Amino acid sequence: MNDLSEKLQSRTQQLLEKGKAYYVPNYAPRELIIDHAKGSHVWDIEGNEYIDLGSGISVNSLGHQHPALMQALEQQLKKIWHTSNIYITEPPIHLAQELVDASFAERVYFCNSGAEANEAAIKIARKYSSLYYPEDKREIITFQGSFHGRTLATVTATAQPKYHEGFEPLPGGFSYCAFNDENAITAAVSDKTCAIMLEPVQGEGGVTPAKAGFLKHVRALCDKHNALLILDEIQCGMGRTGKLFTHEWEDVKPDVMTLAKALGCGLPIGAMLTTEEVAKALKVGTHGSTFGGNPVMCALARVALKEISSPELLAHVSKQGDYFVKRLNDINANLGVFKEVRGKGLMIGGELVEELSGKAGCITEVCRSVGVLILQAGPNVLRFLPPLNINDEDLREGLDRLEKGLAKFAVKK
Ligand code: PLP
Repeated sequence: MNDLSEKLQSRTQQLLEKGKAYYVPNYAPRELIIDHAKGSHVWDIEGNEYIDLGSGISVNSLGHQHPALMQALEQQLKKIWHTSNIYITEPPIHLAQELVDASFAERVYFCNSGAEANEAAIKIARKYSSLYYPEDKREIITFQGSFHGRTLATVTATAQPKYHEGFEPLPGGFSYCAFNDENAITAAVSDKTCAIMLEPVQGEGGVTPAKAGFLKHVRALCDKHNALLILDEIQCGMGRTGKLFTHEWEDVKPDVMTLAKALGCGLPIGAMLTTEEVAKALKVGTHGSTFGGNPVMCALARVALKEISSPELLAHVSKQGDYFVKRLNDINANLGVFKEVRGKGLMIGGELVEELSGKAGCITEVCRSVGVLILQAGPNVLRFLPPLNINDEDLREGLDRLEKGLAKFAVKK
């Protein structure tokens, strides 16, 4: 290492130390400070380049600095940044119509994050039930391994005890059921259930797709018990699995769907989409958000939605996803690191073998050191969420680097 790179490295260390000194200690950032990015490439402050196979956790789905997104942003920034929902602007009105046209929905509520979109979904389900049904029909069923956010209600909806500890007392009215278990959900649902909420592909919980027929089964149970079906497509929606929304693979329509992450392609926006009938429950004054429907975010999201909905991009996602899985299986044939490779489109998980149990964090850091940014989903699953428009060359290079990183953990034979 020469003097200059030592000096620069120490700048990274200094900044990380400074972050540690001033942040609430709830994050464990990796050993780099990112400076800038373009397409599927990211550079740190020392000038090191990385291939981004995480997209800021399914957010930068059109890569970094996409020209059409940049143009929409620049145009809107020169017009108006914020007005509130008392004095409204054009972009959210158009975006609402475009989301309705692209989905099952007839009405849209805008907010700023995934957790807020799920809060809105939980609140509308309870409010809707309060209009038509007895007081004891307020229960919401969610699934083990789910992740729905970090506010008190959405973390309670998140059926993973590790996220609950110490935050008790948790809001009431949530119950949990085994995922992908038709008998268990059939037994759990009752006339007290006002909604069943799930991710069509569980993300944080380990990249676990709902098995074929499960969504349909849950839909039928909701119909039978007058409960709403809430689909959290915050991570798996917006083209991630090769359809605009993952539930389209199963030909199932929800009553409520939540979006965030890739809807803004890098800037914060969330949305709760629903039917005309259910939307009636949120009358004037019942819910709201200062920044929801912000014109800058909505101008950006309009372009994101248009680009991501294109049949060419969605076909590209499926093609790149197939290649990714094939390469992971080939890598695994040599290195024996994965028990299972699973997912859909460009939402892919590799569950580590027993010998590497608990090592997902360490592996992502080693991969970073060889120039590829990946994610984990819990301690035992590596998670890959590359930009949807990643080109062949970048994908190949990213996977080559991944192979190099994984080779340091080879278990084989
Ligand atoms: N729902 C799902 C499926 C998610 O993956 C996430 C975040 O990872 C959320 C909700 C919460 O979104 P946010 O972090 O924007 O509040």
